[in-house]
Amino acid sequence: MLKIKEFNKIIVANWKLNGSNDFLEAYFDKLVLKDIDSDICGIICPPITYFQKCHSKLHSLYLGAQDCSKFKDGAYTGEISASMLKENNCEFCIVGHSERRHEFNENNEDIKIKAGLLLDAKIIPIICIGETLEQKKINKTQEILKEQVINSLPQKSSKENVIIAYEPIWAIGTGMTPSLQEINNIHEYLKKDIEEVEGYKFLYGGSVNSENASEIMNLENVDGVLVGGASLKADQFSEILKA
Ligand code: PEP
Repeated sequence: MLKIKEFNKIIVANWKLNGSNDFLEAYFDKLVLKDIDSDICGIICPPITYFQKCHSKLHSLYLGAQDCSKFKDGAYTGEISASMLKENNCEFCIVGHSERRHEFNENNEDIKIKAGLLLDAKIIPIICIGETLEQKKINKTQEILKEQVINSLPQKSSKENVIIAYEPIWAIGTGMTPSLQEINNIHEYLKKDIEEVEGYKFLYGGSVNSENASEIMNLENVDGVLVGGASLKADQFSEILKA
């Protein structure tokens, strides 16, 4: 398992359900990897069918998955297990993305089970949490985040083996972001006021692009970013990796 504490910033590309062989060729032709500092951990999470192709082109970047099965093995048609991911060079895996929580009805308990299986397979889970706009409007953000974070953490979780991504749902794919002050304050709350995750690495996700990445990543309490849409554009993601 990689030593996450040795990285200064962590930058995750979540390709979601996007990509093709042609896309991959063009993407890696354009992606600039030579100016990335050695203490930056860059992770690309493509659909699993592109793992092998991506792995041969990643150089200093790491391979991540977007989800895994909550089952270890057995009669679960269509599923991919954590140990199968590991056998395919996977070092990280996003779990509990809001799209999985909402489109596929995943709950904190599912996420906790998946994260536990990932740890058993020596893959670092990136656990996503985030509030809806309605919850934000009625000042429930802190309460919701605390509940999600505490209930999604597997027992063997520690600051050495789990990363948490704060992704306000209303900021994902919308072009809207909280203010820098708000992002920093929420990360400060998560890092310092929730005993169970003291010292963990926390990423911000939600409409990060090449223009705002640098100022978000330089916030005192932010350890990196999780990028959706902008990670599909090789020139933008190259800029973010350098930010
Ligand atoms: C995401 O999918 O986790 C995400 C943050 O998407 P976007 O960057 O497009 O808002």
